[in-house]
Amino acid sequence: MSWENYCFYYTDHIEVPLPPGHRFPMVKYRLLREKVLADGIIQANQLFESPLALDDDLLRVHDENYVYGLKNHSLPEKELRPIGLTWGPELLKRSYSSVGGFVAASDSALKNGFSALLAGGTHHAHKDRGEGYCVFNDFAVAATRLIDQKKVNKILIIDLDVHQGNGNSSILGKRDDIFILSLHGEKNYPFRKVPSHLDVALPEKTNDEEYLTALREALQKINFAFDMIFYQAGVDNLKEDILGTFELSFQGLMKRDQMVFEFAKNRPIAMAIGGGYASPIELTVEAHANTFKVAKSYFS
Ligand SMILES: [Zn+2]
Repeated sequence: MSWENYCFYYTDHIEVPLPPGHRFPMVKYRLLREKVLADGIIQANQLFESPLALDDDLLRVHDENYVYGLKNHSLPEKELRPIGLTWGPELLKRSYSSVGGFVAASDSALKNGFSALLAGGTHHAHKDRGEGYCVFNDFAVAATRLIDQKKVNKILIIDLDVHQGNGNSSILGKRDDIFILSLHGEKNYPFRKVPSHLDVALPEKTNDEEYLTALREALQKINFAFDMIFYQAGVDNLKEDILGTFELSFQGLMKRDQMVFEFAKNRPIAMAIGGGYASPIELTVEAHANTFKVAKSYFS
């Protein structure tokens, strides 16, 4: 299967209004889609609108009260506040689309070898609540779906966002058919981490060399016969990131991506872009686009 056959999913066709000055960089998703097209990394016929997730799939990992409470806008304001985004019909639809897009990407990766969502990696969403810009947990939904449907037996989640995936680990951290590796900033949100199968907390100002050494060592420790990888390729490790505490360069991030792709040894990879909050936001967009560039050269 060649790169031209791989499918990619986007969510920015659903616009979510944010109050002026809100620090969530909603625009990056559209800018990334435009950049990978403009740079010829992905062709227009490889890009698909993310389908909406099914309630039945969300309910594999989320409480009914939470899912229907969001749908009916009947959750108390204080339960919505930790999400950090204002509730509205567009946010609800975008959240369904983000999970649906990753579910589609996981199916497509299984079929073709590689696929990605140009969004997602919503690893802070828990069973009964969202937080940290995450409404539903896309990896948890897609992983349990593929395992329930017996399409795969074991999934390795590699989460390289600078923030620890406390939602992934609160939902999946005790399973033995899923293994979560998380490399994250010990001083970054969430301040109370939930144990993953393998957590590597790194100090502030971690640079390329320190990071890549830690990643190599962590990958060597994984003794888990996985059938596929879910890769959360957050770029908030970048030096210029406002929320991240690390000092990685574009080159360091690209070596990181390369290391993950090589580690898969031809097993399918479904990827979500994860976080990125650099100033200016174009730096984050370039870092995300670089991940796709590395993927293209690796898989071509
Ligand atoms: Zn993050």
